Amino acid sequence: MDYFNYKAGKLFAEDVDIEKIAESVGTPVYIYSKATILDHFEKIKKAFAELDTTICYSIKACGNINILKILADFGSGFDIVSGGELYRAAQAGADMKKVVFAGAGKTDQEITAALKAQIGYFNIESEAELENLIALAEQAGVKTKAALRVNPDVDPKTHKHITTGTKETKFGVDIERAEKVFAQYGKNDYVNLCAIHVHLGSGGKTIDPYREAVERILPLIEKLRGKGFKIEALDLGGGYGADYQTDTVPSAADYADGIVPLLKDKNLKLILEPGKSIVANAGILLTKVLYLKQGGRKKFVIVDAGMNDLIRPCLYDAFHFIWPVKVEEKFTHLRRTEKLDIKGLEFVDIVGPICEGTDFFAKDRAIPPVKRGDLLAIFTAGAYGFTMASNYNARPLSAEVLVDGKNFKVIRKRQTYKDLIALEK
Ligand SMILES: *Cc1c(COP(=O)(O)O)cnc(C)c1O
Repeated sequence: MDYFNYKAGKLFAEDVDIEKIAESVGTPVYIYSKATILDHFEKIKKAFAELDTTICYSIKACGNINILKILADFGSGFDIVSGGELYRAAQAGADMKKVVFAGAGKTDQEITAALKAQIGYFNIESEAELENLIALAEQAGVKTKAALRVNPDVDPKTHKHITTGTKETKFGVDIERAEKVFAQYGKNDYVNLCAIHVHLGSGGKTIDPYREAVERILPLIEKLRGKGFKIEALDLGGGYGADYQTDTVPSAADYADGIVPLLKDKNLKLILEPGKSIVANAGILLTKVLYLKQGGRKKFVIVDAGMNDLIRPCLYDAFHFIWPVKVEEKFTHLRRTEKLDIKGLEFVDIVGPICEGTDFFAKDRAIPPVKRGDLLAIFTAGAYGFTMASNYNARPLSAEVLVDGKNFKVIRKRQTYKDLIALEK
């Protein structure tokens, strides 16, 4: 469910005509819907209400301060993976007690800044990192809490680059090693190791890996408690499905149905770190058709957005539904899916202007006929879209726009050529 819908053959974000945004801000531009963001957030909150749950939105999915502020105002905490994200969270007015800090390579500077900000938990990825955290906490004279990231060794069966919960990854420690880590570091005066963190990676399409992970972690928690360690929280990470295609992933309620019964009466606080399940379909990337080109038997639609704006198709073979902003009525209200079987569509490759063969958004995709100047919406681009954008080919970063009901505002200005060289001497 999202708030990007066609009315009389024209695409709207909530009550705003997308063409109006293009006229005023230009293209390419990221457009986010506030109502969609909050709808997802509230659904997760409601689904897990039976447990003492903290939702820590994962900033790396979409980190604009305005979006973080919306979520902070509705009680969200944040999952951060760098000092830069710590800064963003603070600027957005986050409740620092609801911030969790993950990442296999935290620097001393980042750790010290997070200690001083009194964040909720450090999510620990290795013994070496924990030793360093203890040393830095002592040095700063600050007490903190930590969660040990454990690999339950379940495979959510996603793309190989985004699987992180199996044994052979750089993240976290195996279940067997977790007990040793607690034995060695579990009773420290400065770092209170009192939680378990799991993150399975992104893109799982079923709830099974989560249930399996909880089933493997609970006996560990029992064992640790039996040895006198106070385990107060389980952080189940993120990776929950997002609607890249209509109705193909479990809902927040589905996840809760699988997970909540396992954790009831376990005296555990639950932390969730959703990223894309909150923002993915809350954003589109709007782009304009520059040229049509016939190459052999293929038809290319060349657009003004490139892989520097949205790298997911090139990086992960990710699917994004792409559709013209203005279409005949018969082409509206469709399920967003790869396999559209409707008369009157053309098969095209939708590609960007960058000098790389991988600069594409879709291959052999069926879309209604388009012409130069038409606007195309690349759907479900809210997560890992703008945050992964780069200046490759000296292309200024696109603008970001937030829609709220009948209104829209630019929440990040389009970069200028001057911005591109501002730091160069
Ligand atoms: C990236 C990440 C998330 C969010 O993942 P999504 O797939 O966007 O939900 C949550 N936790 C950690 C530790 C992460 O690295």
